[in-house]
Amino acid sequence: MRKLLFAFCLLLIANCFYAQDLKYYLPDSVTYSSTIPKPKDIIYHEVGEWHITHDRLVNYMKAIAAAAPERVKLETMGLTYEGRPQVLLIITSPKNQQRLEEIRQQHVKLTDPSQSSSANIDNMPIVVWIGHSIHGNESSGANASLLTAYYLAAAQGKQIDELLDNVVVLFDPSFNPDGLQRFSTWANQHKSKNLVSDPNSREFNEVWPGGRFNHYWFDLNRDWLPAVHVESQNRLTWFHKWKPNILTDHHEQGSNATFFFQPGVPSRVNPLTPEKNQELTGKLGKFHAAFLDRIGSMYFTKENYDDFYYGKGSTYPDVQGCIGILFEQASSRGHLQQTNNGLLSFPFTIRNQFVTALSTLEGAKALRREFLEYQRDFFKQSSNRAGAFGTKAYVFGDKNDKTKTFEFATMLKRHQIAINELPDGWNDKDFEKGAAFLVSLDQPQHSLIRGIFDKTIEFKDSLFYDITAWTMPLAFGLPYKELTTAPGLGAKVESLNFPKGEVIGGKSNYAYLLEWDELYAPAAVNEMLTAGLFVKVATNTFEMQVAGTNKKFDYGTILIPVNQQKDNAETLTAKINALAEKYRLKVYAITTGNVNTGSDLGSSRFANVTKPNVAMIVGPGVNPTDAGEAWHMLDQRMNIPATHLESSVFNRVDLNKYNTMIMVGGSYPDLNKDKLKAWVQAGGVLVLTEEAVSWAAQNGISDVKFKRAKAPVDSTQKLIYTDREQIDGAQQVFGAIFGADADLAHPLAYGYNQKTISLFKANRVFMDKSKNPYATPFYYGSKPLQSGWVSRENLDAIKNSSAVIVNTVGNGRVINIADNPNFRAFWLGGSKLFMNAIFFGRIIDAASARTEE
Ligand SMILES: [Zn+2]
Repeated sequence: MRKLLFAFCLLLIANCFYAQDLKYYLPDSVTYSSTIPKPKDIIYHEVGEWHITHDRLVNYMKAIAAAAPERVKLETMGLTYEGRPQVLLIITSPKNQQRLEEIRQQHVKLTDPSQSSSANIDNMPIVVWIGHSIHGNESSGANASLLTAYYLAAAQGKQIDELLDNVVVLFDPSFNPDGLQRFSTWANQHKSKNLVSDPNSREFNEVWPGGRFNHYWFDLNRDWLPAVHVESQNRLTWFHKWKPNILTDHHEQGSNATFFFQPGVPSRVNPLTPEKNQELTGKLGKFHAAFLDRIGSMYFTKENYDDFYYGKGSTYPDVQGCIGILFEQASSRGHLQQTNNGLLSFPFTIRNQFVTALSTLEGAKALRREFLEYQRDFFKQSSNRAGAFGTKAYVFGDKNDKTKTFEFATMLKRHQIAINELPDGWNDKDFEKGAAFLVSLDQPQHSLIRGIFDKTIEFKDSLFYDITAWTMPLAFGLPYKELTTAPGLGAKVESLNFPKGEVIGGKSNYAYLLEWDELYAPAAVNEMLTAGLFVKVATNTFEMQVAGTNKKFDYGTILIPVNQQKDNAETLTAKINALAEKYRLKVYAITTGNVNTGSDLGSSRFANVTKPNVAMIVGPGVNPTDAGEAWHMLDQRMNIPATHLESSVFNRVDLNKYNTMIMVGGSYPDLNKDKLKAWVQAGGVLVLTEEAVSWAAQNGISDVKFKRAKAPVDSTQKLIYTDREQIDGAQQVFGAIFGADADLAHPLAYGYNQKTISLFKANRVFMDKSKNPYATPFYYGSKPLQSGWVSRENLDAIKNSSAVIVNTVGNGRVINIADNPNFRAFWLGGSKLFMNAIFFGRIIDAASARTEE
C-alpha cells in the first residue's frame, strides 16, 4: 500500500508539481501556430517554474503583439507610480481588428439610450475585459495571463476563429504592476531547487508591507470608485472607452481553500445592482463549473465573497450594465505549499486561472446576445429609474474650498457622469456659481451616481466583505443637497478648469493672509516654513477691510507678516504669488494691522507656526494601508516628506530631529514606549489614529479611557452552533460613516466650516469623553450614524463617545483620533483634521489638553 501511494505521489508530482511544460496547461485538442513565441522563448523559463516578473511579462505581451499583429494590438494605458507600463492587449479576429474603431463606436452606442436603438447587435462582438492579480501577491492570475495570451494568439482552428469573431478581448495581464514586481522578487529569491512546501518557510511569509499593494501600500481593489491612484485612473479611461460587457478579476484566497467564482452571497448584493446581473453571473458560472470539472478542480460559489462595495473590480462594473466576475484561487504563495487539501503547486493554481479565463470567453461567446441586450436595456432603463426616484438632482460644492469641489467633480467625470454649471438665476445662497455643480439623476449613469451619493441605512445582511458605506460627498466633507424637483441646468461641463490662485490686493508691505479652508493650504504653509518664512496662525476670528470691503477671517487664518521676514517685500511677494498659483489659493495682501472686530494682527492671539519635521512608524504590526494613506496624503497631496521609521530603527536613533510622530492603526509590540514617552514629554506632538490610540493608552503614553460595547448575546440565550458566525461577525465594525460635532474654535478644527464632520469608522476604539471640557474637539453625539451598517451594540458604544481627544504629556501633546482621517485617500473631509494635528498640535494650550487630575 505504501509503495502504491508512493508511486501515485510520484505520478502526481510528475503531472502536477513540476509540470511546467505548456502541455500541462493547454487544451490538447488544439494546434498552435509555430510563428508565435511560446512564453519560454521570451521569459527564459516555463510558466510556473518561476514567478513572472512584471518586466518579463510585458516583454512577452510585446512579443505576442509583434508576432500576431492580425489578432493582437498592444496599447499602453499609462505608467504606474514606479514607472511600469500598464499594457492592454486588444485581441480579436483579423477581420475585427481591421475595423476595430468602428466596432468600438458601435459597441459604446449600447450605453447611450439616445443612440442604442439604432445599434445592430446581430453581428456585434461582445467585449470582455480579462484582468489579473490586482493584488500583486496573488500572482497565479498574472502568470496565467502568459498562457491565455499565447492561446489567443497562437491557437488554430474553427473554435478559436469563432471565438475571436464574436469577442473583443481587452486583456490586462497585470492590474498592479508595482505589486507584482515586488512579490515576484520575493517569491523567486526564496525558491529552493528542492521545493520546500512547509508553510513556515520564509518563501510563504513576505516582509512588510508585501506585494498585495501598489507603491503607496494601497489596495487597488478598493480604488475603482474613488480612483485616487494613477493605476485606476489609467484603467478607467480604457474601461469607459470600451464599456465592456464582462470584466474578470482574477485573485487568490487563503491556501486552504479551493477555487471560488461568482455569484457570491446573494443577500449581500448591492441593491443598485439589477437582479438580471446576478442571473447572468450565474449563467456564466455554469461555464466555469464545466471547465473546472473537466480538469478535476474543486470550487465553490455563493459564499464568503459579495458584490456590495462598488470600489472593487468585480463590483464596479455591476452598476454600469456590465458583469464583474471575481475569481479566487487558493494561493500557493510560493512554488509549492502544504495545505489542508494536500500539496498545492503554483502551476496548479495557474492552470485554474487560465481555464476560467477560457470559460469566461466561451460563455461570453455563447451568451453574447443576451449580454449585449442586457447592457442596452440597463442604460435604456436609466430614465425610468430616474423617474421613479425621489431625488432629481444633486447640487454640491464648497465656496470656501473650490479645489476640493473640483477634485470631487473630477472624480465624477472619470466615471463619465455628466455634470452641469449652476444655471443663471440660481438662488440657493449655500451654493455659488463657479464653486458648485449640478448632477442630474436623469442620465445614463443614474445608478452609479446613486452608488456615489446614496446614504444607506437599511441592509439585508449584517456581514460584509468590505465597508458598508462610502457616501462620497460626506467623505469629501463637501456641502451638498438633494433636489426633489428637477432644477434648470446650466451649461454642461465638458472639461474642468481648476480655479486659479490669486493674490488679492497685489504686493503688500505689511502682511498677507491665507485662509486655511482650502485643500492645499497645508502644502503651501509647509513650503513657506521650509523656505524659512515666518508664519503665524489666528487662534481667534477677526474682520477687516480687504480691497475695499469688510471681510471675516476665521480661526486658522494664516498670517505672513512682511517685516519679520529675511526676504525683502519683493522677494516675499514673488514667493507668495508662486505658492498661490501652485496650490490654487486665494491670498489677501493686507495694508494694516488694525481690524474692525476681533484681534489685531499683532495680537498674541496669533500663534507661531513651526515647521513640522515628521516621522511615522511603519513596519511589522502596522496596518500597511493606514500607513500608506498617511504617506500618500503627506507626499502626494501635501508635498511633505516624512521619515518612515521601523520600530527597530526608532529604538536606536536620536529622535530630536523630529517634532511630529505619526502612529496609525495596528500593533507596536517592539516599539520602545519609554523612549516614545520621553520624546513626547520633551515637546513632541504624537498623532495617533485607530488602534494606536489604544496602544498608547495601554502603555501609559496617553490617559484616554475607553467604552466597551455590550456583548450581543448573554449566557441565558440558547443558540444553534451555526449562528455563531453571523452573530459574532456582525459585531465587527466593517466601516460606516459617523457625524462628529466639531468645536470650530479648536486648533484641530481649523479650516472646517460645517458643525458636523463626517468621519469613517472601521474599528472598535470607543473613547470616553475627556474630563477636560476643552480637550474633546470632535465628539459623537446621540445620533452619530450617517450612513452604513453597524450593530446596535457598537452603535450604543459610539453614541456620546469622543472622536478626538488631546492629552498633554510633559511639554508634548498626544492627539488621539479614534478613526481613520485619511481613509483610502478619498476621505478629504478628514484630511484637514490630520493636517491640523501636524501643524497646530503644538499650539494647543496645555490647559485645554491636560486630563490628568
Ligand atoms: Zn485579492
